[in-house]
Amino acid sequence: MKKHFSTIIFLFAFITFFSSCEKKSAENYFENMNTFMKVKCYGKKAEEAVSAAQNYIKELEETISVTKENSDIYRLNHAQEFPVQVSQKVSNLIKYSISMAEKTEGAFNPCLYPITSAWGFTKKENKILSDKEVKELLPLTNYKNVKIEGNAISMKNGMMIDLGAVGKGFAGDEAIKVLKSFGIKSAILDLGGNIQTIGSKPDGKNWSIGIKNPFDQGTIAFVEVSDMAVITSGGYERFFIGSDGKKYIHIFDGKTGKPVENEIVSSTIIGKIGTECDALSTSLFVMGVEKSINFWKNENNFDFILITDDLKIYVSEGIFGNFSFNNSIPDAQVVEIICVKKD
Ligand code: AMP
Ligand code: MG
Repeated sequence: MKKHFSTIIFLFAFITFFSSCEKKSAENYFENMNTFMKVKCYGKKAEEAVSAAQNYIKELEETISVTKENSDIYRLNHAQEFPVQVSQKVSNLIKYSISMAEKTEGAFNPCLYPITSAWGFTKKENKILSDKEVKELLPLTNYKNVKIEGNAISMKNGMMIDLGAVGKGFAGDEAIKVLKSFGIKSAILDLGGNIQTIGSKPDGKNWSIGIKNPFDQGTIAFVEVSDMAVITSGGYERFFIGSDGKKYIHIFDGKTGKPVENEIVSSTIIGKIGTECDALSTSLFVMGVEKSINFWKNENNFDFILITDDLKIYVSEGIFGNFSFNNSIPDAQVVEIICVKKD
């Protein structure tokens, strides 16, 4: 009897030991920031980690949302008097956004909300603005009129800030910090098509990230990465067809005050920091191919995949070896893939 008992104890200890060694995984799907999100991670505390990351993203949205009435950004955008105190995090993100506006010479502009909202992009009803209406609103989009002193923000009456083009990347960076605080060393986050990863897959291989086909359903290409963000801006994500039959997309050119009209249909940035990749994906989309390539030549910290309306795919040399085209898509034979080099 005693022998039996010790055998059972031994077996129990054996099973417990090996099941604790096995990598646990957990994943959560949820809706936030007007999009679907998925966080999957591997590690002993996977379940607590994904819940904490999800809660964190929810809390963040409460502070940076442009439409939620209690958010710092809403309070700032509807203030009658300045300065307005915001949280340290929001102040830092505004400061970063303004610095990106300067760096990209306004291709990235976090102050376009007076115009984008007039075109109806946060509402159900879209409207094509006349040139006169655009001209009246353009002075309210000058990012040089935002002053930041610590956490106190001042701007001209009528100006409005929108962190929509960096928010998801920032949320990803912050969620990654949360996951890491639970000891997570392998994770993938899909925040509305923005992919961010911690480490590699549990088997040590790279993550294979699909780039959405901008012309149709499915995936046009794959890129293999580990510990990187792969962030895409696409005209296909949000747009409306006007009464004139034209397509008007949600990414705006701050110089014209109108939706971007150039050859780019999708721009993907691959880099270490999600916030930066997010800002750059929007910026390169606005710049068009030629300016984007020139901009990239002076930078060292990111790679890109730009897809144009005439079926060309420009891939920067740093990521070209990890890029593969999905040959099974229709039109595969007419697509031209170009490796862009620094010199
Ligand atoms: P993304 O999907 O990251 O490219 O962000 C697009 C969102 O950013 C839009 O839905 C607008 O809210 C906002 N936005 C549009 N055009 C610009 C721009 N040129 N610079 C910064 N934000 C923009
Ligand atoms: Mg962006």
